[in-house]
Amino acid sequence: MSRCIALIVAAGSGSRVGRSAPKQYTPVAGKPMLRWAVERSLATGAFDHVVCVIGPGQEQLYGEAVSGLTIRQPVQGGETRRASVLYGLETIAEFEPDFVSIQDAARPLVDGTEVRNLIARVEDGYDGAIVALPVVDTLKRGEGEIAQTIPRAGLWQAQTPQLFRYGAILEAHRRAAALPEAKRDALTDDAAVAELAGLRVALVAGRAENFKVTTSADINRLERLLAGVLETRIGTGFDVHAFGPGDHVVLGGIRIPHDKGLVGHSDADVALHALTDAILGAIGAGDIGQHFPPSDPQWRGAASAQFLRHAAELLAQYGGRLVNADLTIICEQPKIGPHRAAMAASVAQILAVPVGRISVKATTTEKLGFTGRGEGIAVQAMVSVTLPAGD
Ligand code: MG
Repeated sequence: MSRCIALIVAAGSGSRVGRSAPKQYTPVAGKPMLRWAVERSLATGAFDHVVCVIGPGQEQLYGEAVSGLTIRQPVQGGETRRASVLYGLETIAEFEPDFVSIQDAARPLVDGTEVRNLIARVEDGYDGAIVALPVVDTLKRGEGEIAQTIPRAGLWQAQTPQLFRYGAILEAHRRAAALPEAKRDALTDDAAVAELAGLRVALVAGRAENFKVTTSADINRLERLLAGVLETRIGTGFDVHAFGPGDHVVLGGIRIPHDKGLVGHSDADVALHALTDAILGAIGAGDIGQHFPPSDPQWRGAASAQFLRHAAELLAQYGGRLVNADLTIICEQPKIGPHRAAMAASVAQILAVPVGRISVKATTTEKLGFTGRGEGIAVQAMVSVTLPAGD
């Protein structure tokens, strides 16, 4: 039996999908994307070991992502994807592999049949084999205007896994590393490195589902594929804080000048408190007081953004996503209208969602009740979230 190692390249630091962590650690259907890639690779049964190449400072994220899985120590990546692959290839020499399957963490839907097809082609005599999709769209070259139509016959879109004879691809990568930068930069996948070295690389038909996750729309698509059916949940939150001495209030994470302040243990951001409770409510995770007890001195004067962020992180851990949030601020003073857009932008930024998903409204109670008498501010929040359907 040939010895085959899966090398998963997960060293990127980019977060184009709109989250703070690198995209390979983005939770998708309840697990970090990298964990899906590793689990899928292990499940193929085709690999003797799975090794990841990770970026600097990602050890903790990585450790959490693969916790409990049977996987080898990760390798530290380099400045570029190509450099990362070379480090990975050099490091796995200790396993004396016959074949190596180089895979992008951002293409987590690895398939056992495909990997076995790749291995079969290399056992047939090819130096390497990659999964790829025949191009079906008509291709145009141009800048704003069509200069040329490119015949699509015989064109393929390269995917990963890309599987090679270990010694051959290691040598090809070492040679590529010695090239001038411009030439190196043109090598955008491992097959290109192999071709440059004169290796013969077979094409194996891949699947459209094995797409590369680049944008937040891709995350949604991946989530639908992995989670099967998503369910929608709602949560509500309500909070009140009384006015006291002061010269401003904090609402929705922004400071609004006023002739009073709001009384509270933290920064008394009644809007963020209601919203935090709404998110916790949607996932059945208790309320803000349980997570951040007012009796705990560490929350004295705390910025409530961290409470909201915590709720959003819990939601993400459940595999959930915020669909929208709607806040109603109930008070006579200060006037909310001039600050609504800034509050929505602030909340959207804390939650790392597009601002169009956040609504901030305001109303008075026609001088009735405690808000009508100007004794405090009440806020009502409602959120909708999606979660993988389950028990
Ligand atoms: Mg409160």
